[in-house]
Formats: sequence, C-alpha cells, structure tokens
Amino acid sequence: MQAEKEEEEASPEEYVALCDFTARGSEQLGFSTGDKLLVHAKPSADWWWAELQGVIGYAPASYLRQDAAEDEDEDPWQDDEYFGSYGTLRLHLEMLSDRSRTETYRQVIVSNSASLRNKVVMDLGCGTGIISLFCAQLAQPSVVYAVEASSMAEHTRQLVKQNGCEEVVTVLQGRAEELELPEQVDILVSEWMGNCLLFEFMVESVLLARDRWLRDGGVMWPSSAALTLVPCQADSYYSEKMAFWERPYGLDFTPLQPLAQQEFFTKPKFSHLIDPKDCLSAPCDVICLNMYTVQEMEGEFKFCVVKPGVFHGFTAWFTVQFESLEAGGATVELDTGPNSDPTHWKQTLFMLDKPIHVYGGDSIRGNIVLRRNPVWRRHMTVTLHWTINSSSDNCQVGTKSFPMWK
Ligand code: SAH
Repeated sequence: MQAEKEEEEASPEEYVALCDFTARGSEQLGFSTGDKLLVHAKPSADWWWAELQGVIGYAPASYLRQDAAEDEDEDPWQDDEYFGSYGTLRLHLEMLSDRSRTETYRQVIVSNSASLRNKVVMDLGCGTGIISLFCAQLAQPSVVYAVEASSMAEHTRQLVKQNGCEEVVTVLQGRAEELELPEQVDILVSEWMGNCLLFEFMVESVLLARDRWLRDGGVMWPSSAALTLVPCQADSYYSEKMAFWERPYGLDFTPLQPLAQQEFFTKPKFSHLIDPKDCLSAPCDVICLNMYTVQEMEGEFKFCVVKPGVFHGFTAWFTVQFESLEAGGATVELDTGPNSDPTHWKQTLFMLDKPIHVYGGDSIRGNIVLRRNPVWRRHMTVTLHWTINSSSDNCQVGTKSFPMWK
C-alpha cells in the first residue's frame, strides 16, 4: 500500500477541469473550467488530492476528466487552453483591476500624446482594448491595429464602437503570428509580461510581430525589461509548509518532510508578497532584455548580505521601461517589486531545500538560467546556482532547478 502511494506521489496525473469549482474551507482547491490540475493521490472515489499552480487541496473527482488527447497530439503552445482563458472575463478583470499596471500604460500614452499624432500603432494582444482606447482617446494616432487572438476580440469591437473610437481603432481577431496588415507600424505596444516576467512566453509573439511589422526606427513599448532577484527569508511560508511537521499535536511527523519538500518547494510559489524587511540584501537585476535585440536568458548575481537572517530562498519580480518618443522626455517604468504599489503579478518565491543561516558581510553569488521547455513552449525551467562565502566558515555551494510548470 505504502509503495503504491509513493508511486502515485512520484508521478501525479494531469486532469482537466470540466467546470468551475469554488473551494469551501482551506482544505479544498478551487479551480476554473479548463484548468489543468495535477492529481497527486486519490484517497477516496469522490475527493482527490490535487494541485493547481502550486496550490494543493481536495478537488471533487467528478469535476475532472483525464484529457483524452495524449501529450503528443497536443499543441505545444496549448493555444486552445491559453486563448480560451483570455476569452472569458476572469483574467481581464484581474488585469484591469490592477491599477498600477493599467495606469502605467495610460501614463505612457498621455506623456507621449504629442508624438503619437498621426502615428500607426499596433496593440498586440489587446484583450478588452484598453490600451488601444487610451491611444484613441488621449492621443491622435492615424490608426491603432488592435490584435487579439481570443474570442474577447468580438466584445472588444463592440467596446470600441461604444466608446466612439471605431474611426481610429481596428480590431483584428487572430494570432499575431498569422497577422496581415496593410502597412508597417511606428509603435508596437503590448502588455505581454507574465509571472517571473517571461512565463507563458507571449514575448515570443511580440518579438515575431516586431520583426515583421515594426518599421525601421519604430518604437517598442515596453522598450526594455529586467528580472530582479533578492535572497530572502520566508519564515512563515517555511513554518506553514515544512516546520509544521516537526511536532503537530505533540507527535513527530518529520518523516513527512521530504514529501513536503517535494510537494511545496519543487516549483516556485507564485503570488508571493515579500515584505521588504525579509530581503537579506539589496536586490539585483539579473536579466535585462532590450526589446530591440535578442538576448540570452541568463544572468549573474552577487549579493552582499546586510543583516543576519535565515536564507530560505530567492524572490523574483520584474520591471519594464517605456522609452519616451519626445526628445528629452522621461522614461516611464512599471515596477512589480516590494517597494512599489502591488500589482496582480505580485512576486515569485523560489524556496531552497534547506534554510541556511547567513550573516552580515556574507556574499551570495551565482547565476540564474531560464530554459524553455523543449516541448511545452509556454513553460520553462529556472535554474539557480549559488555560492555563499561567509566570514565565519567555509563556502557553501548549491543548485536547484524549478519547473514552471512543466
Ligand atoms: N492588452 C490587454 C490584455 C493583455 S493580456 C490589457 O492590457 O488589458 C494579453 C492578451 O494578449 C490576451 O488577451 C491574449 O489572448 C493576447 N495574446 C497573447 N498572445 C497572442 C498572440 N500571439 N496573438 C494575438 N493575441 C495574443
């Protein structure tokens, strides 16, 4: 029985949600239609122990089906699932409710409105059309091509009309990869950023559209992006998921700790909100992308620990910059880090397997590599290597790879 259980835990099975389920209580796992859940165990016929984006809980078995199409028949970009999710309001509501994000785009348009006059703009992945509508209402471009692959495009057309922008904004429903335009564009604006900046790799579609449709000397918004990393404490997360097993109800449950590590610390934790006081050093930009050129997705870091603490892991977030079209105009920046207004991306936490005590003056150096999954093109593995040099004793070396998600 034990062996069987272990086998089940070792290779969770993927299931697809047939309909939405709202969790009642913290033991249950909520999900939406089309979500892919990993089922770790089937303790009863009705309730399975499942995982969705790093969150674990009981899911009703009858809501799930194993995808009939086996992996090899599936689209490596998972476009049906990806664009399916953007065809409903859930994600658009989350994005539009994120004021820091949306206001930054508005500010970019407002502060460049004079230079946008008579320009040809492409809003790639326009969603509800918010950025296109900002352009049409706050500046006077000659045309905005609002490109959207999901079925939201049908509603976007209506929103454009409803807001009297149909003379300027043309909604084109389809994938950027198959786009046909009557002309090249002066400005390519897009909100393509995912968790940990690159997750879902929409940036690839943006770069492809840039090569095909941006005229020589045209402008990309964002113009650059950076992934930032900081070594951090994550005491409460560690206590909740790992230290918990030390003595629950006066019993020694430590044999479950390796399982806990596998279950909770193998993948990064999305939607983490780091308290600036949990940063063990100043953050460091580890990957900088210039949107006009192609770059390596790897970088180095060297952190100087500023106070004694427990090094539980690394937290990552990103910034993007929008260059000004006006001579001497200010660059606008969107910062998703802990010292700015929170955004819906929050931060991403990468837990080490074992916490390490560090002291002021220690250094943590190493590198980060983002590697695309060779099959599943929207997924990647983040690998961190680190060396801790401490004044008190020798150096410690570590490495860990985190799948996000496949
Ligand atoms: N611009 C909107 C939506 C941003 S989310 C806003 O700021 O609120 C990204 C959008 O891009 C989604 O609606 C998604 O369906 C769309 N998208 C992603 N990749 C695309 C592609 N290759 N071609 C067309 N649309 C794409």
